[in-house]
Amino acid sequence: MPRGKNTNVYLSCKECKMQNYKTRINKKTITGKLEHNKYCSKCKKSTMHASGSEIKHSS
Ligand SMILES: [Zn+2]
Repeated sequence: MPRGKNTNVYLSCKECKMQNYKTRINKKTITGKLEHNKYCSKCKKSTMHASGSEIKHSS
């Protein structure tokens, strides 16, 4: 059994709020919000994406 739970979360564009990416975070090591500069296909440019809601029961 792996120790430490990783949580899947969405990374959503801060400008249009589209949930463009998913990432895994370890809640024990990461506190607060993650932010990544990523390309948003809706905005058609790189924007800041912030970690948001948890993805539960991911397949
Ligand atoms: Zn966007």
